[in-house]
Amino acid sequence: MIPGTSTGAVLDIDLEAIADNWARLCRQHPSGPVAAVLKANAYGLGAVPVARRLFAAGCRHVFTAHLSEAQAIRPLLPGAMLAVLNGLWPGDAPAYAAADIAPVLGSLAEIEEWAAHARTLGRPLPGLLHVDTGMNRLGLPPQDVDALAAEPGRLDGVRLLYVMTHLVSAEAPGDPINAQQRDRFARACARLPATPQSLANSSGCFLGPAFGSDLARPGAALFGVNPTPGRPNPMRAAVRLRARILQVRDVPPGGRIGYNGVWTARRPSRIATVSVGYADGYPRSLTNHAAACFDEQVVPLVGRVSMDLSTFDITDAPGAAVGSWLDLIGPGMPVDEVAHRGGTNGYEILTQLGARYRRAYLGA
Ligand SMILES: *Cc1c(COP(=O)(O)O)cnc(C)c1O
Repeated sequence: MIPGTSTGAVLDIDLEAIADNWARLCRQHPSGPVAAVLKANAYGLGAVPVARRLFAAGCRHVFTAHLSEAQAIRPLLPGAMLAVLNGLWPGDAPAYAAADIAPVLGSLAEIEEWAAHARTLGRPLPGLLHVDTGMNRLGLPPQDVDALAAEPGRLDGVRLLYVMTHLVSAEAPGDPINAQQRDRFARACARLPATPQSLANSSGCFLGPAFGSDLARPGAALFGVNPTPGRPNPMRAAVRLRARILQVRDVPPGGRIGYNGVWTARRPSRIATVSVGYADGYPRSLTNHAAACFDEQVVPLVGRVSMDLSTFDITDAPGAAVGSWLDLIGPGMPVDEVAHRGGTNGYEILTQLGARYRRAYLGA
């Protein structure tokens, strides 16, 4: 059997919407080109088809988190910059150089390793520099920027493409950390060799022109996650998760549904079971909180989300029957709404989308 054909759940991935979102972000960020961050298999949607579509749209800068992710899409991106955010592991330099992949260098040790390999090869190697301005996670801390400013020869052999930093709270425009990071970044760049700069992630593209740079690095917004939480979503939805009803049960008042009976029918109820559960990345925390859509009708999720199954109250959707499709994510149930109901964010919902769904690409 072909994997994914028997699940009764289909993930529609709209590559046209993703390309359109990239074009919108380009208009939103006029100070420089817009890269695509395709880490975690393009936020769960498939790095290969997404990279191919965005390259066709004109995208020429791509980031992944891991070297292996970059290697997998390198052939699809001839001549494009392909960079790895999580940096250079000791010993990986030859693999980067062989595939023309640029590491994002985030420590003096990584700079030394990459520069040494460039000297070994006798040719300059492309790299980016990550400066930590407040995340305290990756990137050069202030004392290492000082060391580099004092001794720029440490970069000999590295063809610096961009200096970048990463915003901590870009989705919260009122948070003063945004302006602090921008200012710290500007001060660090002024002390380093003159190099193009890269600042905004998805939400950063919506913080105004002061957060414009020579290269934006959005990920989530490409895939329809709202980069401006609390305001209307400027992006197009790119994902629809449809599940087919396997069985319908008539449950009398007092009947309880699923593990531990955490939902009790208060009226004669029709309960639909679909084959999507937490093993498919439909979070267990959605128990009694989520809803799906049947056509325009919202049908609440009732009872526990179990490993492979979930149950919905379709009493008020008389047209729904065995074989009908419910939208677990779709036009009436955006990914951000599912995330909110599950106590997480759209990033996590997308990156956890299960391997058992049949993936159908639109606009490939
Ligand atoms: C993930 C990531 C991005 C993209 O962030 P989004 O919020 O998804 O746009 C950009 N830069 C870095 C360093 C990242 O880790």
